Amino acid sequence: MIHTVVLVPGDGIGPEVSEAVRSIFEAAGAPVRFVEHHAGVTALERGEKDVLPESTLDAIRHHHVALKGPCTTPIGTGFRSVNVALRKTLNLYAAVRPVRTMPGVVTRFDDVDLVIVRENTEGLYSGIENQITDGVVASMKVATRPACHRIALWTFRYATHRKRKKVTVLHKANIMKLTDGMFIEESRKVHARDYPNIEYEETIIDAGTMRLVQDPKQFDILLCENLYGDIVSDLCAGFVGGLGVTPGANIGDTDAVFEAVHGSAPNIAGQNIANPLALLMSAVMMLNYISDERDDPECRKVAVKIKGAYDRALEEGQKTRDLGGTLGTREFASAIISRFS
Ligand code: NAD
Repeated sequence: MIHTVVLVPGDGIGPEVSEAVRSIFEAAGAPVRFVEHHAGVTALERGEKDVLPESTLDAIRHHHVALKGPCTTPIGTGFRSVNVALRKTLNLYAAVRPVRTMPGVVTRFDDVDLVIVRENTEGLYSGIENQITDGVVASMKVATRPACHRIALWTFRYATHRKRKKVTVLHKANIMKLTDGMFIEESRKVHARDYPNIEYEETIIDAGTMRLVQDPKQFDILLCENLYGDIVSDLCAGFVGGLGVTPGANIGDTDAVFEAVHGSAPNIAGQNIANPLALLMSAVMMLNYISDERDDPECRKVAVKIKGAYDRALEEGQKTRDLGGTLGTREFASAIISRFS
């Protein structure tokens, strides 16, 4: 069985890390055929009229799975985020971001093994901003009961499937009583009704982030609304070596887009120094997802093979610069390929 996956290389370091992943997939014999479509500034440069072309969305709707590089979003002005639009348009409501200690990567904490689940479609990412009067602007935080409910349900289902023990909701319901209040209300409901066997905890986010940096091992799954999930994902990436080793997935009921947590890193783009591991780890998550969804054990076999090879490469000191090594993007990809057994 060959699975067609839409590859969106994206902007900045996106094309370099995508190429590295493509070469590793080919060498590993992954049963995947990539079809390339574009988004972001790259799409405009290739003559598209929009940063998120309808043809790219259609391809993902048709093939149901995509691997995506980062897309640049201008700060303060300019077009709206491609990433937010993609997640909303395809209703990819669950962002899942595993953070685990990598072999051979020395950080302040050992044995970190966390998963952040971020609600991907609401909150302050509604993009509803108004100028009330001169010098007064407002941004609207949106929460709906169905969206709060489905992300809680998704998280507890995921926890059960992955044999995880505990879900902690990070919130600010003491201040945002209606929006964050609804978020914890639905989480409590789903827990009490369907998943009492999983430990459940709520923590106000300011105290929660303090507890996180004191000892991340006290947490297992962190369930967050959109903005908190965004911030906490990068914070947790810092526990295990940074954005070069933190993968992610955006999952909906019919489609899924796999992408690293990091952005387009314009400061290092085009220099063959970006770490391709975060996108490769996202691609491994993608193989496991396809294996589950389409009942294809071959995908899981290849995922295990690739993971084994990059774990060995790191253990043997083969690293890119962000992890204290000297290898370039392509050289690190070759180091992984040479470790396939
Ligand atoms: P960033 O993640 O691009 O970079 C932050 C820092 O991490 C930089 O120093 C960068 O060099 C480093 N870094 C990131 N990925 C790396 C990798 N793979 N290897 C080595 N070093 C890496 O964050 P930013 O600078 O805040 O954002 C840049 C652009 O990316 C912005 O336009 C932002 O909107 C966009 N962005 C896109 C996504 C996405 O597409 N999902 C996510 C976050 C940010």
